[in-house]
Amino acid sequence: MRYKGKVYRPPSEAYSLIVQVTYGCSHNKCAFCDMYDDKHFAMRPMDEIREDFELARRVYRRVERVFLADGDALMRKTADLVEILGLVYGLFPECERVTCYASPTSLQIKSEDDLRLLRSKGLQMVYMGLESGCDAVLEKMQKGHTAADIVAAGQKARRCGLALSVTAISGLGSVEHWREHAVDTARAVSEMKPDYLGLLTLMVEPGTPLEKWVREGSFTLLSPLEVLKETELFLQHVDSEGTVFRANHASNYLTLKGTLNGDRDTLLGQIAAALEGRRDLKPEFLRAL
Ligand code: SF4
Repeated sequence: MRYKGKVYRPPSEAYSLIVQVTYGCSHNKCAFCDMYDDKHFAMRPMDEIREDFELARRVYRRVERVFLADGDALMRKTADLVEILGLVYGLFPECERVTCYASPTSLQIKSEDDLRLLRSKGLQMVYMGLESGCDAVLEKMQKGHTAADIVAAGQKARRCGLALSVTAISGLGSVEHWREHAVDTARAVSEMKPDYLGLLTLMVEPGTPLEKWVREGSFTLLSPLEVLKETELFLQHVDSEGTVFRANHASNYLTLKGTLNGDRDTLLGQIAAALEGRRDLKPEFLRAL
């Protein structure tokens, strides 16, 4: 495969064929993020996309999952995406699912008819970043959307039959807003009821505005135990029956896995054990994105 710049995929796409159909992120301004700072958002030429899929067909015996990269593949025209999905399922009849990242903007732009059409052509799931349900945090982090915008985009995806995987970031509210961040994120998740929720923990990436704020002292990072207190508060407030909850990312201090709401008490018990020192936390040097 030919890739331009750094390529990211959700942890659950570790065994997927990844092909860039766009380059970069359509927003590319979040204060904590350096994922796509090496490229401008652009559409990849369709003939290159076709060549990569044809090459993959020659190389791989079975391709069961395909992830369309980069950061906001849903921004591509619906007709292009329909063509790409046709290409994927034509070349790989064994393919079981195609997924991509989507932004609140691309979900807003697409009509419900477009989203339903894409679902019918085999786009199963979109991954969308909520980051926080707290507007003050979203504004500080230059997310470009209010929590209500993001919730509406997630609800629209689900209404159109797409599975929805959402990420939020613990620690993003700093010491100033950690309670609002926890409670408002719980509310936003409860309103969307995504199929999956990934809770990452804030990492400070060199060269980002966040790194500058931390260095200058205007943003105070939560300690590992404060991050756990925040996650505890989130779990106490969230109501999202059936959502698969995962805090098992390389950035998390404590690995948590369960299904809401049923596993809430178990998860809270695991956090309590860690807060009381009965469970070890991941050391700082092992954390990564
Ligand atoms: S967090 Fe997501 S939306 Fe924000 S700049 Fe990074 S990739 Fe783009």
